[in-house]
Amino acid sequence: MIVGADGIHSAVRACLFGHDAPRFTGNMCWRATIPLDAHPLSIVSPDASFWLGPHGHVVTYYLRAGKMVNVVAIRETSEWVEESWNVPSSAEEMAAAFPGWHRNVLQLFANAARVYKWGLFDRDPMAAWSSGRITLLGDAAHPMLPFLSQGAAMAIEDAFVLARTLSLGRNVADSLKLYEGARLPRTSRVQLESRKRGETYHTASPLQQIYRDLRYKLKQLIEPQSTGLQAGWVYSYDATTAPLTGQS
Ligand SMILES: Cc1cc2nc3c(=O)[nH]c(=O)nc-3n(C[C@H](O)[C@H](O)[C@H](O)COP(=O)(O)OP(=O)(O)OC[C@H]3O[C@@H](n4cnc5c(N)ncnc54)[C@H](O)[C@@H]3O)c2cc1C
Repeated sequence: MIVGADGIHSAVRACLFGHDAPRFTGNMCWRATIPLDAHPLSIVSPDASFWLGPHGHVVTYYLRAGKMVNVVAIRETSEWVEESWNVPSSAEEMAAAFPGWHRNVLQLFANAARVYKWGLFDRDPMAAWSSGRITLLGDAAHPMLPFLSQGAAMAIEDAFVLARTLSLGRNVADSLKLYEGARLPRTSRVQLESRKRGETYHTASPLQQIYRDLRYKLKQLIEPQSTGLQAGWVYSYDATTAPLTGQS
């Protein structure tokens, strides 16, 4: 059995289904960590926070028991860099991509010590990802925009469900088909919904912004502990008990 868990540029995928390049999604991402020992910050909410603006969004959350803030800043652009984790950037370049944004966001950017950037790529959902005794897992099968923060989570779910199907003791090809049937609808939905989130988060239309913000606000009023982002269906999935029948 071969499991191609070799990422967005998967060689196993290319061997099985032919070579095609991942799609540049028109989004750049900056990522930075800000140590709070050096810069005590009162401007970062204790929750994971989303700042939504035209053509971009910024996510902040605490790391290391509150000793550090992680910043993920996404901006639409026609320019792009190689899909990679380690293209060095700077606080200045990141701030320059967000002119006129809220002063808390810009102050946070100004405190960033090490900043990296990369272009964001994805692919369309596949019709199938297994053939005989070979299958795909994670980004090799379903690379997605990180707008629901689910790429690695989907890979981990895939792995658990694959283990479950193999443990049933069927022949390998049948087990891989069962795995694919259980996982493909869910990962396809998350892939497509992640794209859709980009449109919602980044809309430049004032009317759509009001509609979006009211919906999120209303959700939070009804359920104060919920994210407001209406992603309950993502988090309520349990890979240990999900039916092995292809339901999302
Ligand atoms: C900006 C950004 C933010 C993200 N945030 C989140 C988040 O908050 N939550 C989340 O769940 N996900 C997030 N993700 C997505 C997550 O990083 C990926 O979905 C996840 O890393 C995919 O895991 P993988 O194991 O499938 O692939 P990869 O992590 O790409 O691992 C593939 C591995 O295969 C190896 N490999 C490749 N080719 C070969 C070969 N020929 N031979 C041997 N080895 C090979 C590679 O070296 C690599 O180690 C984010 C992604 C980005 C870009």
